[in-house]
Amino acid sequence: MIYLDNAATTRTAPEVVEAMLPYFTEYYGNAGSIYGLAGESRKALLRARETIAGTLGAEANEIYFTAGGSESDNWALKAVFEAWQDKGRHIITSRIEHHAVLHTCEYLEKMGARVTYLDVDSEGLVDPGQLERAIRPDTILISVMTANNEVGTIQPVKEIGEIAAAHGILFHTDAVQAYGHLPMAVQEYHIDLLSASAHKFNGPKGTGFLYVGKKAGIRSFIHGGQQERGRRAGTENVPGIVGMAAAARRAHEHMEERAQKERMLRDYLIGRIEAEIPDVALNGHRARRLPNNVNFSFAGMEGETMLIMLDMAQICASAGSACTSGAVDPSHVLLAMGLSKERARGSLRLTLSEENTREELDTVVEELARIVERVRGMMVR
Ligand SMILES: *Cc1c(COP(=O)(O)O)cnc(C)c1O
Repeated sequence: MIYLDNAATTRTAPEVVEAMLPYFTEYYGNAGSIYGLAGESRKALLRARETIAGTLGAEANEIYFTAGGSESDNWALKAVFEAWQDKGRHIITSRIEHHAVLHTCEYLEKMGARVTYLDVDSEGLVDPGQLERAIRPDTILISVMTANNEVGTIQPVKEIGEIAAAHGILFHTDAVQAYGHLPMAVQEYHIDLLSASAHKFNGPKGTGFLYVGKKAGIRSFIHGGQQERGRRAGTENVPGIVGMAAAARRAHEHMEERAQKERMLRDYLIGRIEAEIPDVALNGHRARRLPNNVNFSFAGMEGETMLIMLDMAQICASAGSACTSGAVDPSHVLLAMGLSKERARGSLRLTLSEENTREELDTVVEELARIVERVRGMMVR
């Protein structure tokens, strides 16, 4: 099997599983209890919080553990709106956010929020000038993702953070695709809230965190016990959190080396597809791009068809369209970048990991070339 869907999820690293295991079988105490066993859980949570904070240049008490990226995004937007709606009800975001942000914004609009959805250019970039012009006296929050999950485009996060700070507006970034893959620094980038998810950097699924800087004054999200300083109730997922911290440590230890390797593989794959398959177009920015993201549109092709045919060749990939209730909806990201529906429907996303080899990529290109030739050959001209 060749796995090229690392933007959807990653393999849990063996050393991460190793780090988690004792917290199922030996140190299973509830971190909120008094006895010694519980102390082990408490210590593990403290260490994990410090590890994560250290990777961001944050303080341990600015890290809140959640059940993943979607929860972190929901929490950030809903709680900021709740806390600051007396000051204003205007939120600025972009058209290419993950649905965890976009659908939350739509929900908040029903609750009285006013949302500006910024356009992006043909490579998926938000224009900081346009963003600044969208700011109004009642703007309370800017939420722009660090890097896009479909096309890999990396936003000018530092510039956006500086604009937000200059206007005294909170800045949230969905860093689910970036954290563990790109260096992130909350102080330097003026980030007030940051979402991340462990399973996107070789950690376990169902675990994530939300960084909340002191200035943001966050509200409770899950009401109940006093866990997470009373902001997010529920017995802590100690094994998951320990696994996330182990994955964060691992990801940051060799980040540049790994990114370098992935960039080489990425550019090799892009180069071969462009050279050997006619009528293809790269989606996303060529340089400002996640080290592991490849996304192409193939003229005359349907993404879903390519996925099924690749699956028959034991290759896991993803398409820029989703089959919802029988109809194929082209990706909102590709449409926002100005692509035609046809080009959006013919898109294919291949997201690598450091574990992939050139030989695997050679196989992928050969299979793809065969698939494209076969399908195009069947079309009536
Ligand atoms: C995967 C992803 C999410 C959702 O994270 P989960 O942990 O799966 O809930 C949010 N935003 C982006 C950019 C993602 O890639």
